[in-house]
Amino acid sequence: MVEINGIEEREIVQWIKKHFNQDDDDLSIGIGDDCASFNTRKGHQTLVSTDTLVENTHFELNWAKPGNLGEKSAAVSLSDIAAMGGQPRYALLNLNLTSSVDKRWIKAYLKGFKNALATCKCVLIGGNVTIAPAGLGFTVTAIGEVKPEHCVTRAGAKPGDAVYVTGTPGDSALGLDLLREKRRSYSTAERKLISRHDSPKPRIGWGQLLASKKIASAMIDISDGVAMDLERVLTTSKVRATIELDRFPLSKESAAIVAKKGETAWRRILGGGEDYELLFTVPPSKQASLDRLIQSGRITATRIGATSKGAPSLRILDHQEADLDIDNYGWTHNLE
Ligand SMILES: [Mg+2]
Repeated sequence: MVEINGIEEREIVQWIKKHFNQDDDDLSIGIGDDCASFNTRKGHQTLVSTDTLVENTHFELNWAKPGNLGEKSAAVSLSDIAAMGGQPRYALLNLNLTSSVDKRWIKAYLKGFKNALATCKCVLIGGNVTIAPAGLGFTVTAIGEVKPEHCVTRAGAKPGDAVYVTGTPGDSALGLDLLREKRRSYSTAERKLISRHDSPKPRIGWGQLLASKKIASAMIDISDGVAMDLERVLTTSKVRATIELDRFPLSKESAAIVAKKGETAWRRILGGGEDYELLFTVPPSKQASLDRLIQSGRITATRIGATSKGAPSLRILDHQEADLDIDNYGWTHNLE
């Protein structure tokens, strides 16, 4: 029996069973057996993705609030389902606990986790609890579904497609920088950036919209930064791309930091990651449909560049239309 600070594994599982909704028409066996079991809906394919948040790699206990961590550990996996145009259905949660957390902390974590699942009607169907001498870890496996004809991968970009991002990527990295300063107080603008890091919102509805209307030819969620995630699309789709900083959508808060710090801030914006926005490519034939969605306010997305024919490579043009030396930008890029 796993026990930590006087809480037994059984108690955590019972709390989860009591508080997490198991009501789902396709779920035949939920939490409490050796396996969960669900029926796959006809005409849909299953999507599966898993991700882990690890203490001192992805968060530090002295600044991460348990509720935010719960929310974020769900969001990072749900975001992968969003990036394929899918609908999340089920989740598995593996908790790796240490003696640095108590019962109140764990319950706050689970509440945040539950809230994130509830936003997209995703049902927790199982998991595991272990304890380790050090290093909290939260692994979430998300299971989703998508109609095969709507599934969007990283491989579909063609030369001449436009490159788009949703929202204002970069906020999360700048928010993390502020958290690392461990200040006593932050301004309203700073707190806004911090909250973009602490509680990212996976773009599930937007992903489905772009997929079901066949607007996105390729798509990825921004987990490791616009530059690296775009490079992944380019490598898989075998195209090159040029993006322009003049087009890049900055939040008011990020723009203020760019005005002050210039290139240092751009480095974080393009290379920082953990935004969980979507990056996607759009063929010319779908441009008008996307424009209508943007104008009607159904999606927030900005064109940052375009793809072209040639060996996969990424050019980033700065405000003078000069090439940024991306080798100095702190991310590893290995395009074949
Ligand atoms: Mg991803």
